[in-house]
Amino acid sequence: MKKILVTGGAGFVGSHLCARLLEEGNDVICLDNYFTGDKKNILKLLGNPRFELVRHDITEPYYAEVDEIYNLACPASPVHYQYNPIKTIKTSVMGAINTLGLAKRVKAKILQASTSEVYGDPQVHPQPESYWGHVNPIGIRSCYDEGKRCAETLFMDYHNQNNVAIKIIRIFNTYGPNMNPADGRVVSNFIVQALKGEDITIFGDGMQTRSFQYVDDLVEGMIRMMNSDDAFLGPVNLGNPNEFTMLELAEAVIALTGSQSKIIHLALPQDDPKQRQPDISLAKEKLGGWQPKVELNEGLIKTIAYFENLLKQEEVSR
Ligand code: NAD
Ligand code: UDP
Ligand code: UDP
Repeated sequence: MKKILVTGGAGFVGSHLCARLLEEGNDVICLDNYFTGDKKNILKLLGNPRFELVRHDITEPYYAEVDEIYNLACPASPVHYQYNPIKTIKTSVMGAINTLGLAKRVKAKILQASTSEVYGDPQVHPQPESYWGHVNPIGIRSCYDEGKRCAETLFMDYHNQNNVAIKIIRIFNTYGPNMNPADGRVVSNFIVQALKGEDITIFGDGMQTRSFQYVDDLVEGMIRMMNSDDAFLGPVNLGNPNEFTMLELAEAVIALTGSQSKIIHLALPQDDPKQRQPDISLAKEKLGGWQPKVELNEGLIKTIAYFENLLKQEEVSR
């Protein structure tokens, strides 16, 4: 049994990770400032004596005695990370410094939730970890992309200079229950729009691609990475290589919800990556044959059921 800190633990991915770590018998401290996360995501965990909830902003120092740290605190949806870009980059960079300082002091192993966004609008396809990326350093996505790139640098430097045990994962687009319905990310937007019978908003022509990973597959990969050979630091891609256009995603959501919603096209945001697909050979090799198991339709059905229930509850409380 280990004592584990999860920063950003009340968010979408963090809430699933906390639940899984508790199931495995660990003590879990969930740290969050509730910027995009919600106590509702971890409501079921609150009665567990091995679960502890801390309201804290990771740009400020934090002290605890732990064996492992999963550093997830950071808004992940473009709408939210662009809301206060200076705060976003502070969260990535100062959050990395504080959690690394903590890891150094207590000799904890620390895993950084990095992102496929470090590849920017990639010119290599699919993206292997060896690709250095194509990022606009002064665009509207840079607070997130460059913040995450700088955090990777800090992780490597704390390892090399201070011998901190680090792990870096690069997460590709992930979806599932506990996504914030107002999050602005494409899967939650399309599902909520389809369920409400509202227009489905495709940005641009809808021919841009993403590869969508169901959250359970990600959590499995994260835990395997934390437990992998000490010499393997990453970065390692964690994503589902099945690639879809946004048009195909919209059509799948309409078909699975039986919605009457129609598709409309809105302007494409600046610097929107045209394509994204992980090369996961390294993860397969280093993480005991890890690969995603949940295909898009199966994951969408589970996610749609979650949002259906959420919208019903909202109606009842109105
Ligand atoms: P999320 O927005 O649901 O979760 C982020 C959590 O961090 C929220 O609970 C939020 O309140 C918290 N947070 C934000 N700023 C904080 C601060 N300063 N101090 C403390 N807590 C803070 O997003 P998510 O999808 O669960 O993403 C989790 C992590 O995974 C993020 O670091 C994100 O960059 C990374 N990631 C996610 C995806 C994805 O597709 N979901 C893809 C790539 C990377
Ligand atoms: N820190 C923290 N918790 C700890 C130890 C350190 O939040 O348990 C913070 C500390 O306040 C500092 C940062 O982590 O701002 C980096 O720590 P480090 O020891 O690397 O740097 P230093 O304190 O020497 O600047
Ligand atoms: N997108 C869209 N409609 C929406 C929200 C997003 O067409 O309502 C597009 C967006 O332009 C991008 C893709 O879907 O090309 C994925 O967007 P998301 O914000 O989910 O993630 P990211 O761009 O960070 O991969």
